[in-house]
Formats: sequence, C-alpha cells, structure tokens
Amino acid sequence: MSGGIKITESRCRGCANCIRSCPTEALRVIDGVVRLLPDLCIDCGECIRSCKDRAITVNDDEWDLIKTREGLVLMADPAFYVQVGAYSRPRLMMEALESHGYNDLSEWASLAFDLSAFASAKIIREGGENLPYISTYCPAVIRLIQMNYPELVGRILPVESPLETAVTIWREETGAKENVTLVSPCPAKATLVRNPVGRKRSSLEYVVSVRTVIRDMLACNVKVTGAKTRPVSGRWLLWSTSGGEARHIASFFDKGFTSISVSGLRNTQDLLNELELGRLSGVDFIECRACDLGCFGGTGTYESRFLSQLRLNNIDAEWMPSSEEMERIRHWHDRGVWELAAPVVPRERLPLSKDIKEAMAKLREMDAIYADLPHIDCGACGRPSCRALAEDIVRGQGDVSDCVFKMRERITQLSEEIQCLSSKLPHTLHTGRKRRRS
Ligand code: SF4
Ligand code: SF4
Repeated sequence: MSGGIKITESRCRGCANCIRSCPTEALRVIDGVVRLLPDLCIDCGECIRSCKDRAITVNDDEWDLIKTREGLVLMADPAFYVQVGAYSRPRLMMEALESHGYNDLSEWASLAFDLSAFASAKIIREGGENLPYISTYCPAVIRLIQMNYPELVGRILPVESPLETAVTIWREETGAKENVTLVSPCPAKATLVRNPVGRKRSSLEYVVSVRTVIRDMLACNVKVTGAKTRPVSGRWLLWSTSGGEARHIASFFDKGFTSISVSGLRNTQDLLNELELGRLSGVDFIECRACDLGCFGGTGTYESRFLSQLRLNNIDAEWMPSSEEMERIRHWHDRGVWELAAPVVPRERLPLSKDIKEAMAKLREMDAIYADLPHIDCGACGRPSCRALAEDIVRGQGDVSDCVFKMRERITQLSEEIQCLSSKLPHTLHTGRKRRRS
C-alpha cells in the first residue's frame, strides 16, 4: 500500500504521461484526472518525474506544524548532507541543524550504517544458496521485487534499514521517547515510516522530504561558521550514491567479495531479469537503487544529483572503524537490533475475486476481452496497457468503449447500420423525392 505519493487533482490535465512511466501499472486517468491504485504502487517516484504540472508529489507530513515542536528530533537520510552549497560539507549541515534547535541523530546513524554493513558482510560470508543477496536499502526496489519478481524475495538480505536501526539504538542508549521525523529523499522511504516492510510498525513517526527542510533552512538563512563542528564518519554518507553500500560491506571482507551496483529503475529491472534467468553466478551481492546515481537522485531532494555527487566525491571515508567503534558495532550486532523482524514475502496483485472459482471465471473473461482489444498499449483509454483496460472492465471499473479503436469500430458499425436502415425506409417516409403534383 502506497503512502509516499500525493495527487493534487486540480493540477492534473489528464495528459496520461505518468501512466506510461509507472513500472507496476498503478495509475489510471479516468474522467480526465489521474487516479492511484495504492495496492500496486511501489513508491518509486517515476510518476513524479514525469508530471510537469506537479499534480503528483511526495506525500510529506505537515512540516510547518512539526517544526514548531520543541527539541525536534530529525533522522536525516545521508543524501540530506550533500544538498546545498552554503552547507557544502556534512559538518556544516549538522551545525546548521543544531543552530535551528533541531536534534540530529547522525551520530547513531553512523553507527547503524556500520552495523548494517557488518551484519550484511557476515551473512554474505556464510554464503549458501541465496547468493547473490540483494540489498534491502532501497524500499522501492524491495517492493518491486515483492510484486514483479516474487521468486527473488528469498535473496533479500534480512537486514533492517539502518535508518530504523539508528532510531532503535538511540532510544535504547538514551532512553529517549520523543517522536522522530525522517527527512527523506523519496516517497519510498516515506512508506518505510508509514507502511514498513519486514516490521509491523516503524520506530519513526513523521516524514518530510529533504527539499522541504532545505528550503526552510535557506529561507531562514541559518549562518554556519564551522566552529561547532564535531567529527563525523563519511562511510555512511556514501550509501546515498550507487556503489557506496557495496563498498562499505566490502570493507569487512579480507578478500573475495564480488558485487554489482546499479541505479535507475530500468537498470534495476534489467539486472533483476538477469538474476531471474540465473545469469549472475559468482556474484555475492547486488545493490540496486531505483533512482539515477543513487538516493540524491530521489524525487524529494533539493539539489541537482550531479552536484550532490560532486560533493560526495570530496568526502574522505576512513573505511576501517576504530577499535572503539568496532566494539560498539559488535555489541549491537550481538543484540540483534539490525535484523528484519519478519521475512520479506511476495506481494500479490489484487485478486479478481476472493472466491477462486469466480476469480478463474473472471480471468477467462479478461482474456477474452483482451484478445479483442488492439494490443498496441496506446494509453488513450487512460490505462497503461490494453491488458490493464481488460482487467478494469472485469472489475467493473471500465468499459470497452473506453478504447478509442473499439469506439471507432462501433461508430463505423452504427453508421453502416443507420445507412442500411435508412435504405429500407417505407416510401411514404422518404423525404428526398419531389412530391408528385396532383
Ligand atoms: S510511485 Fe512509481 S509505482 Fe507508484 S504510481 Fe508512481 S510510478 Fe507507479
Ligand atoms: S534510490 Fe534512494 S532515493 Fe531513490 S527510491 Fe530508492 S531509497 Fe529512495
């Protein structure tokens, strides 16, 4: 179920650009307005990119309300720290947050990302038939696998998102009870909070996009001096770029770790197709990010992804944790806070009926309707494909006349019938001939 996408109907012009971009056919244009089928949405954000009228946006919680809370606690995504020129280094960004009076959990995030990489390395080293394992970090990719590649779910690493783990450790170490707001680069991480995979409830409470917070900070013109800086590890920040997570995991291997990292939905789908066909033997780990270049390519970010990449390239990452850091990592590893509470399972598409017999009958009906459609997936009916229209018809949410080709056929047929009928009119009703003069 989606939670990361917001549709503003008044802005939609019904152009249907978005329905073609959606990898799971979760959008329709009905009566000139876009509609979301939340159960099919994986929150990849492709529709946000394709809509020039901003009718589809990231579904933020009310930042104007959230930010008025005293001692606000923010769990910012790594992509947040490489967004703006004025705060071009992560340390400066942290100082800006502090000057605002916000509590930023980067210290715990740094530990949690180390812990995730350490735990992942341990599982991968133990190997087994699930190799190559797939990263759990991008929620859009996980949902895509659940929906379109159900036979690959067993390969998903049973490792919790480090953003969740950071909050869990922070609560346990400090006893803090305050609500935590995730500053997210994308709709997918928003659903991590609202509808998490692998756990019943998120340890975070609210979510706002990186763009919203950055805009606000820029509007307030928070000055930073660099005087209040505190040391911060660069390792976890590199998870926001494609290949950063794999590099972090590799640092816990002495030798013999093979990984493939891709970004962008198309590359992700190509790689998963190859994995499904059994072509990736000898690979230990697959890291896919739905967004181009990584999380700073997310639809909720502020900065150009190319500039963010440039800033990230300037971050020095000391890949080996210090002995004190290693001690903390081992401690929390033994506590098991990094584990997914429940395995990731396939997500069924909406059944045509709860009754199996009826569902089978509807499937046959759908096949028959589809066979009669033109199979060109033009999108003029407001559906992403002819098959989607056939499905909507059997669900009672569409009509064959929604297809412009079927409509044209019907109009041609009707006009022929009218012509035929008119030629059969009784002579008394013919109007075109001259009346005989008496
Ligand atoms: S977020 Fe992705 S899956 Fe959801 S409606 Fe948009 S394009 Fe489709
Ligand atoms: S790549 Fe990162 S920003 Fe993009 S959908 Fe995945 S988690 Fe979100």
